[in-house]
Amino acid sequence: MAASRLRQLEEEVRRCTRCPLHATRTHAVPGEGPGEAGVMVVGEAPGRMEDRLGRPFVGPAGKLLDSLLELAGLSRGEVYITNVVKCRPPGNRDPREEEIEACLPYLVEQISLIRPRLVIAVGRHAGRTLFRLAGLRWPGLARARGRVWRGRIGGVELLIAVTYHPAAALYNPGLRGELERDFSGFIRRSVAEALSRGGGGGGAGLDRWFSPDSIGSGEGAGGDVDS
Ligand code: URA
Ligand code: SF4
Repeated sequence: MAASRLRQLEEEVRRCTRCPLHATRTHAVPGEGPGEAGVMVVGEAPGRMEDRLGRPFVGPAGKLLDSLLELAGLSRGEVYITNVVKCRPPGNRDPREEEIEACLPYLVEQISLIRPRLVIAVGRHAGRTLFRLAGLRWPGLARARGRVWRGRIGGVELLIAVTYHPAAALYNPGLRGELERDFSGFIRRSVAEALSRGGGGGGAGLDRWFSPDSIGSGEGAGGDVDS
């Protein structure tokens, strides 16, 4: 059953040695949240506090994320929160391509099991990775922001919303307002729409959240990515 497989997967992540990041971590951070969640949040990689506690988004960026989720009408407890890479890169450097590749099967299986209707990708790395998994051409963060995209990852039809990483707003306070606008605006609307759907699959009502050039026009078939 999916929920128990998810908990088993989380245990596998805690013991994982598939890439060199295992050697420098304190705790792997598999993610946390309900076994079936309508909304998933995907960040980049654990930071210092996350590494210390083995839980996602529990440092300063996590505090901000909590308040942003509220703006979108969500409480932290109802979303599944994880990262592209499950172990902290030393000194918070960017994860390397081979580390992302090694870790990605965990994220894909999490999506298959949790079957979210909406994935909120925070930051460029998470956005680019989710677009690649969905076979969407990555248009850059500026163009990916502001509307919701449709894709299929791990056999699950879902919506993808991309915005800045909350940590970016800690360094650049100007971004906080942008994040607040995103979460109270297009992300809140995406959440409402995603959660109001009965079963899986694309409800007709979804289409109004896609601008005409975000669907069709070959983007679903591409799969080419920036490196
Ligand atoms: N930043 C992330 O991308 N993920 C976390 O879990 C914490 C900070
Ligand atoms: Fe395993 Fe991912 Fe941690 Fe690498 S980052 S050791 S692949 S869990």
